[in-house]
Amino acid sequence: MANGKKRLNFNKQSLLLRNKKTWGFLKGLAVYILIAIASLMFFYQISGNPTSVGDEVPISQIINQIKEGKIEKVTLEGDKISAQLKNNAQKLISRKEEGESIYKILESSGVDPKSVTIEVKDLSMQQAWAGILSAVLPILLLVGLMFLFFRQAREAGQGVFSFAQSRARLFTKDQPQTKFADVAGADEAKKELEEIVDFLKSPQKYKEIGARIPKGVLLVGPPGCGKTLLSKALAGEANVPFFSIAGSEFMEMLVGVGAARVRDMFAQAKKNAPAIIFIDEIESIGRMRGFGITGGHDEREQTLNQILVEMDGFTPNDHVMVLGATNRPDLLDPALIRPGRFDRRVVLAMPDLEERKAIIKLHMIGKPFAEEVDIEKLARRTVGFSGADLANMLNEAAILAAREGKKIIDSHDLEEAATKVKLGPQRKRMQTETDRKLAAYHEAGHAIVGHFLPHVDPVHRITIVSRGMSGGHTMFPPTEDRSNETRSRLLEQITTALGGRAAEELIFKDISTGAANDLEVATSISRDMVTEYGMSSLGPINIKPRPMFGLWARLSEEGGEVSQTMQSRIDAEIKKIIDSSYKQAQALLLKNKSDLDQVAKALLEKETLESEEFEKIVGKKKRLH
Ligand code: ADP
Ligand code: ZN
Repeated sequence: MANGKKRLNFNKQSLLLRNKKTWGFLKGLAVYILIAIASLMFFYQISGNPTSVGDEVPISQIINQIKEGKIEKVTLEGDKISAQLKNNAQKLISRKEEGESIYKILESSGVDPKSVTIEVKDLSMQQAWAGILSAVLPILLLVGLMFLFFRQAREAGQGVFSFAQSRARLFTKDQPQTKFADVAGADEAKKELEEIVDFLKSPQKYKEIGARIPKGVLLVGPPGCGKTLLSKALAGEANVPFFSIAGSEFMEMLVGVGAARVRDMFAQAKKNAPAIIFIDEIESIGRMRGFGITGGHDEREQTLNQILVEMDGFTPNDHVMVLGATNRPDLLDPALIRPGRFDRRVVLAMPDLEERKAIIKLHMIGKPFAEEVDIEKLARRTVGFSGADLANMLNEAAILAAREGKKIIDSHDLEEAATKVKLGPQRKRMQTETDRKLAAYHEAGHAIVGHFLPHVDPVHRITIVSRGMSGGHTMFPPTEDRSNETRSRLLEQITTALGGRAAEELIFKDISTGAANDLEVATSISRDMVTEYGMSSLGPINIKPRPMFGLWARLSEEGGEVSQTMQSRIDAEIKKIIDSSYKQAQALLLKNKSDLDQVAKALLEKETLESEEFEKIVGKKKRLH
């Protein structure tokens, strides 16, 4: 069973990615340094040993030859002695003791130094040059390497050295444009944004009459409901360039980088004004500022401050509109939503039935569908799907059909795609017969309990094919768009969620870890009932802990406003709801045990049961509204 609510959507991924890039950069640097060190060592190896030891002869041999008068001339280069033989091109090479004078050596050997021509070559210049070279060459080498490295980093545009530049992606006027017509539904949001289009197109009109043109618009809505799409469409309609960046992309390991990037991005946008800056996941920088004890907060604060400074610094002629997207407006720093900043708010909700129809139609364009595909039915079946989910579903269906070599997409492909979008791809895993039997009874438990509870939506599909982390799924997709839940519906949802565990206990007299997620769902619904909706014997009060930030959150362990006694009463209420729901689930299963057995048996045979097959066993659902 999968009906857990998804609330939080912090996107840490791009941050991680960025760190990976930094890591790659460091590795690159290490390689360069190693190469530099190796070449230096090589250089010293050869320069430190300037003359190789060749075919030298002992000095005594030369002295003897001089005595015998066979030597024409002796040349001295440092300690190297070369003796030119008379009537012979050959040279004898030897070496004297360092610092010893050749004259002294000859004299002490009883040779008159005047009996032979001695030429002394001055080596000091040569040595000086070698010294200079050995000092300068490594530096030149390093500078050269650094130059290469910098150039590469700049070309890649990703190195740490380009960090002050914003990474905003620019979509210019010349690129294919998104228009409002590409956004299905969302009529109210479009109407509000049309005003902005007009501001951007003819700012003069507003200035003349003394109206203050808004600087920032906050787009609020769950992920995938078209915030980015709508912003692009806004840029397309106004025919202005569109700069897009995610809040997390401002964050770096170095404090101050985010602020520099903000400065750069605004400078670029002003150069291209009128223009739109789109900041996705703005809550990742614009969170309420705490007391700033740790370094990470400083960075975010600096970035946020820079954004505020830039927005405050707009002159009436800048014509740069900042759009911020978030799904957690409650987390935003109040400074960000003050007048003159993000003072406009456009709310995008999950699409309703009509909007889903429109989105489906829009994304069906260009794909061949079978006659039998019913858009109305599809839209009804996809309650709770975002625009992105729907677009994904249609694309997945096309991929499935193509993989099977079909020329048109049929409703079976769509059904499969819808499941995949919501629950992830099928995962064939090794299952023992016991595992399968456990999964079959567990899922049958959810299905039977849900079936006999009057407010729960009818079973749409049961499967023991595992997807993602779970061993199976029972789907009760909502059959209508409800804006409210009632107490009875919530209680029945809890009971249904516990049906899997109850079936395991009834049949196997043992329980498994497979119910962990169900327990989470059940507990979270009952906690909300007690603390948020006032649906327990504590009465109609809201005692949900408020999100806390900064120092306060770090100092206090629990909810803060809720006292110890109240906390234990809340816990007792939650437990009471769970316990009675679990008893109800057990009772329902015991009463309908033969249905449970039959459904489990059918699941073991077919793995997946559609609603019709399920109803053949248990009968049609009796509903209550
Ligand atoms: P968000 O920024 O709110 O997370 P996106 O704008 O990135 O969502 O939406 C992702 C994709 O979902 C879009 O590119 C588009 O294909 C599809 N989509 C979402 N909402 C709509 C809509 N109202 N009409 C058409 N397509 C939509
Ligand atoms: Zn379950």
